Amino acid sequence: MSKYNNVAHYQDFNELLRIIDQSGNNYDIKKIQRAYELAEQSHGDQKRLSGVPYILHPTSVACIVAQFGMDTESVIAALLHDVVEDTHISLEQVRKNYGKDVANIVDGVTKISKIKLYSREEQQAENVRKMLIAMSNDIRVIIVKLADRLHNMRTIECMPEQKRRDKSRENMEVYAPIAHRLGMKAVKEELEDLSLRYLDPVGYSEIEEAILLQENEREKFIERKKKEILKAAKGLAGKTSIFGRVKSINSIYRKTYVQGRTIDQIYDIFALRIIVNTVQECYNYLGVVHDLYKPIPKRFKDYISTPKPNMYQSLHTTVIDNEGIPFEIQIRTWEMHNIAENGIAAHWKYKLGFTRIVNNKKAKQLDENISKIKDVLQAQIDADDSTDIIRNIRNDFDQNEVYVFSPKGDVFSLPSGSTVIDLAYLIHTEVGHHMVGAKVDKKIVPLTYKLKTGEICEILTQKDSHPRRDWLEICKTSSARSKIRQWFKHEKRDENIVEGKMMLERELKRSNISLADEQLEELLQFLLKKNKFNTVDDLYASIGYGGIQLWKIMPRIKDEYKAKFDTENVQVIPRQVAPAKRKNVTSGVVVEDMEDCLVKFSHCCNPLPGDDIIGYITRGYGVSIHKRSCCNVPKDISKAEEPERYVNVYWENEIRDTFQATLELVCNDRTGLLADVTIALSSMRIFIHSLNSREIQNAQAVVTATIDVSGKEHLESIINRLRSIRGVISIDRY
Ligand code: MN
Repeated sequence: MSKYNNVAHYQDFNELLRIIDQSGNNYDIKKIQRAYELAEQSHGDQKRLSGVPYILHPTSVACIVAQFGMDTESVIAALLHDVVEDTHISLEQVRKNYGKDVANIVDGVTKISKIKLYSREEQQAENVRKMLIAMSNDIRVIIVKLADRLHNMRTIECMPEQKRRDKSRENMEVYAPIAHRLGMKAVKEELEDLSLRYLDPVGYSEIEEAILLQENEREKFIERKKKEILKAAKGLAGKTSIFGRVKSINSIYRKTYVQGRTIDQIYDIFALRIIVNTVQECYNYLGVVHDLYKPIPKRFKDYISTPKPNMYQSLHTTVIDNEGIPFEIQIRTWEMHNIAENGIAAHWKYKLGFTRIVNNKKAKQLDENISKIKDVLQAQIDADDSTDIIRNIRNDFDQNEVYVFSPKGDVFSLPSGSTVIDLAYLIHTEVGHHMVGAKVDKKIVPLTYKLKTGEICEILTQKDSHPRRDWLEICKTSSARSKIRQWFKHEKRDENIVEGKMMLERELKRSNISLADEQLEELLQFLLKKNKFNTVDDLYASIGYGGIQLWKIMPRIKDEYKAKFDTENVQVIPRQVAPAKRKNVTSGVVVEDMEDCLVKFSHCCNPLPGDDIIGYITRGYGVSIHKRSCCNVPKDISKAEEPERYVNVYWENEIRDTFQATLELVCNDRTGLLADVTIALSSMRIFIHSLNSREIQNAQAVVTATIDVSGKEHLESIINRLRSIRGVISIDRY
């Protein structure tokens, strides 16, 4: 069950009175009572789709607004937010009875509700601007609207499927980012999680289950840390609360799906939050935890001295405990905590409390904060281009991916560096094939244009247009490239045959081979069988569109030629006799299409059997073997300077006995560490070539070990054994 399921879906007026009573704020209860009675009367026996009396909806929204700590006007506006739209009560009546402010908020909420935010039209940006205008004259408008939206999401279960999805997308694209802007983290996270549940039910429940599975372990861990910290902080004054914190499902979802990590790799799924009374105590506790655990360098952030733009304040640090488990700690005061959860709404709460004391410095500062946020919103409304608004609201995405929008508002994610061609093929293969140009934010851009997050991109197509060969060089994603290649394969067969034949003839000429057409066809027969082609034309076509690369088949063709036609060269020793086998056994590697070439292992990445490998034809030193992931091998071979030098290589079954591997262990330095590593290695009968250690910062040390291993699996088992040594933080293959 989700953490949101314990929130009661409907709350009644008694509940509202209880919340108001507990808040400690000054409310005009008589006025609120009157508003409730009016709302109850005018909604009459209207029912929600679920059959629940309608009045319970505005009452629940008022409860949420009161829980934020909002004032009397906001609570009344929440109670009345649907009366003008759904009943005979007019805005004028509301103004007469409850004042200008309440009428204004009700009007604003009604207007926002009418704006179709997730419209499939280009209007979306303009609509968001309208919404910002509606909320900017009184920020309480958006706070009541967010409460309304939140309650509707909590009770959306009985709505039709399509409506649930539409509302969910609207939340993800507009309401949650706005809540984030206003610092209302609790609302933002709940809206996102509730929406994710309808947008990707399977992904949602997967993560929910995974979190549940770890719950027991997590609670024990947090209990343990809590005790350790409180014990270490014994001398400190003041009351301290320590809580465990679980990341929102949506943020875990983003990390697992967008960044491709598994749940186990997300360390900060759980974190500790220390809440104290004063700023001084925050720094004291920071000292305590940094003494107690090892802080990870560069992970400490002081948002107390430099608050985030949405007023968020806290100290963040990530530490490693003595069991080697990393976890995040946040330290803040109760006031900071309230602002972190409720953002701008919390400012009202403090304002209400502080205005009783005239000229309070704090009240003034909070007023300033609110006007600052208003300025940010105003700046967005004033932006020249309304598409900027959406971009600013959505500037919250992952760095390695760019997110762009179609004019209809659909979101596409691509690897950063992607061009408009990649986008066209991502939208649809046919869109790619017929693309003639693109507009980004309404301006024509070249096809080489690299997309940036937040841009609205429109692909221009023409029925009779088709891809060009140079697109292969421009596009970034392999899926676009393979679709372009496919097109040339299918659509341009005749052209490809001519092109392929020409390419082959040119290459043969260079090797001083000249044959009549029939002879050439005879020569090529062996390649047809091998590649499952029916005719020589199939082979030419494949050469033409790049399916078969000439440099790969030329050596074989030459051999075949020598065997079949070159009678003058019969003395040449046939390849089969060459002592290839022995060499292959020593290297353990087979090079595709090259039987007896010199093979050497590169020193930059020291490949081991089992590693994914690739060969590089060096100038005069045979083929050097690299790991496919080696930093000296380009990710995308086709974009390498000389792609033809890269060849496919495979590990042979009979591999040689041992290979050298170098490991780097980052450890918490302690006496006996090196000895423990040596004992561990020799107990596994591992031959050690070299072993040394050097100190780095923060009392950590790096142990470097060069050892003999028989392959990747063997190495992995060694790493696992080394990992169990006390103090070892991480192990990397060098
Ligand atoms: Mn409503």
